[in-house]
Amino acid sequence: MDGTAPNSNNNSRQDELAGKTAIVTGSTSGIGLGIARAFASAGMNVILNGFGDPQEIERIRRTFESEFHVTAAHSPADMSRPDEIGAMVEDARRIFGSVDVLVNNAGIQHVEAIETFPPAKWDAIIAINLSSAFHGIRAVVPGMKERRWGRIINIASAHALVASLFKSAYVAAKHGLLGLTKTIALETAEHGITANAICPGYVLTPLVEKQIPETAKARGITEDEVIRDVLLHAQPTRQFVTTEQLCALSVFLCTRAAASITGAALPVEGGWTAQ
Ligand code: NAD
Repeated sequence: MDGTAPNSNNNSRQDELAGKTAIVTGSTSGIGLGIARAFASAGMNVILNGFGDPQEIERIRRTFESEFHVTAAHSPADMSRPDEIGAMVEDARRIFGSVDVLVNNAGIQHVEAIETFPPAKWDAIIAINLSSAFHGIRAVVPGMKERRWGRIINIASAHALVASLFKSAYVAAKHGLLGLTKTIALETAEHGITANAICPGYVLTPLVEKQIPETAKARGITEDEVIRDVLLHAQPTRQFVTTEQLCALSVFLCTRAAASITGAALPVEGGWTAQ
């Protein structure tokens, strides 16, 4: 893991979250990057994780440090590899002393009918979107219990609550992630720890941009029709959800005000699952 020693974060912010440490998996892009940035702006030290151009990741890391006066590190751990997840948590503890917040956000998607759905894609989606959360939570809970404080935020999906065509692996993984969230909430409820699942609708990130042509192919329609008749059709607001909306909820879940919210599926999906 690349990173410098933690600073004392002795700027003027007296925010209750200042000085805490968060790991955000899959935070080199999209929703995870937004959440990591929101945490840093609240004074939290952050461990970025995910793939991408090393120079660009280093630029992001330095920007967090200079803009928000926190310490930021990057772990290249592959979320499909339990050993690398364990090493990321260990490194975070070594650099920062503790892991106070874990956001399980890394995720991939593949859209294809079940008959031809590649088994390797199934395995990768279950590993990255579901099993990685198990391995990360398992590694951070002992320290959180010791300190009697912790926040686990699983970025699930509206697909943790309802299904869509041609997303068998993703829907199975996200339903599983919600089940895991509820179980961890019960196991940690008396230890000052909360575990919740945020269930976003469609957010225009690289993950969704990639699935537009895949969905067009699977459904035999144009890409414009995918946006209008599939993505935005699912959401009564007919608007994409924004990363900023998910960031605000993630920060709120870390505050004292949210201490009684645990084991919850929190939909941020423009009314999708109310239908
Ligand atoms: P994204 O593609 O923009 O970002 C995914 C991130 O995960 C990237 O940082 C990538 O490097 C990282 N990643 C992928 N595989 C990895 C691996 N094996 N190990 C470590 N990191 C890995 O996607 P996004 O839209 O920001 O999605 C983030 C999460 O939000 C996912 O779990 C996704 O299922 C969920 N989600 C997204 C939407 C949406 O509409 N975008 C809706 C609901 C839920």
